[in-house]
Amino acid sequence: MWGMIVGLVFGAVLRLTGNRVPSTAPATEWLATQVLDPLGLVFLRLLFFVVVPLVFASLALGVVQLGRLEALGPLAGRTFMLFGLNMAVGVALGLLVMNVVRPGQRMDEQTRTVLLEKYAPEAAKTKERAEQQPRLSLRSLVEMFMPGNLLRAVVDFQVLPLIVFALLVGAAGTQLPEARRLALADFLEIVTELMTRIVHFAMTLAPYAVAALLASIVIKAGLDIIKALSLFVVCLLAVMAVHLFGTMSLLLKLFSKRSPVAFFKAIRTVLVTAFSTSSSNATLPTSIQVSREELGVSASTAGFVLPLGATMNMSGTALYEGCVVLFVAQVYGVPLDLGSQIVLLVLAVLSAVAVAGIPGASLPLIAGLLASFKIPPEGIALIYGADRILDMARTTLNVAADVVTACIVDEAAAKAAAPDPPT
Ligand code: ASP
Repeated sequence: MWGMIVGLVFGAVLRLTGNRVPSTAPATEWLATQVLDPLGLVFLRLLFFVVVPLVFASLALGVVQLGRLEALGPLAGRTFMLFGLNMAVGVALGLLVMNVVRPGQRMDEQTRTVLLEKYAPEAAKTKERAEQQPRLSLRSLVEMFMPGNLLRAVVDFQVLPLIVFALLVGAAGTQLPEARRLALADFLEIVTELMTRIVHFAMTLAPYAVAALLASIVIKAGLDIIKALSLFVVCLLAVMAVHLFGTMSLLLKLFSKRSPVAFFKAIRTVLVTAFSTSSSNATLPTSIQVSREELGVSASTAGFVLPLGATMNMSGTALYEGCVVLFVAQVYGVPLDLGSQIVLLVLAVLSAVAVAGIPGASLPLIAGLLASFKIPPEGIALIYGADRILDMARTTLNVAADVVTACIVDEAAAKAAAPDPPT
């Protein structure tokens, strides 16, 4: 937390000095790219190193520990239901606020022209990437989950095929004779433990790395763009805060015995890691460690829910996608009636599932969504400058929703497994 504050303040001071005394700007830029970024990278790369073995081992272990394949059904059912609920509520809240405040209609002509021109090259590249995305079909879904070459997919950091493979290994493991099943569980537990220790190494670096990452972001992002988009940014941050602290607390109150205050206190390392890395994948090792060690979530639930969540449960991203589409529609004066907005809600949830847990991954999907509503996809340029900051916020929400789901599902699994009380 302190690292975050120090980084934000330090970055803002250097950036403002650069604005006032332009001769210092090149040195500040150098400091950001040559010193602060590499420092942050050490932390990020430590986390990325462990993602593949950790996802594989914790997910396979989760299934092997269940012992019976049938126990996977209710666990998966509850998990996917909560993922869907979280994302749908997020988008609905976002669209509601965008409809009430209408920040897109309040943007003046000059700001609009400046933003569209300034980020036109980035927008063109994003549009190109959007056009390369495979159209949603049964075939593309199979390719997404089961590509022709598992190893190449893993090398490219596609987590979904890895998840499928780990689930298959876990499922096959439950059918082994008991002694072998336990030996397999032992091995997977050791791998998980090793990776968690590496996460601990990363966490000792966290305060410094978080400060470096945040200072660099503030130096590079600049505050002028945020000012130009202030109403949009404020609306988004407010609705994300409501979803994070409101919806998540409500879910905990309704479906679990945990106190929301204690929950948020316990997961603060997870929140700070997500905020400073803008990556659900990079935060996954921390969320597994915190869920098991601080929240007492069982290895099988954490191992099953969190890797799936980091890849599929993008509550903040879905909310963001819906809001950006509506915002750009408002700027261009494209009317989206209630029916279209319901379609938008469904599409935002579905496309958020396909977003990878890395920084800026939702941009091409948003360009695709804009095109499907006949809104010029180049309009993505309008929000480009603020995307990095908003990515930090939406990733925090994405990850928090995963941990909430893990807690709720774990309590339900424990209750289902508990013997009936004597009558
Ligand atoms: N950065 C987000 C995440 O990792 C994905 C996105 O919305 O761009 O969860």
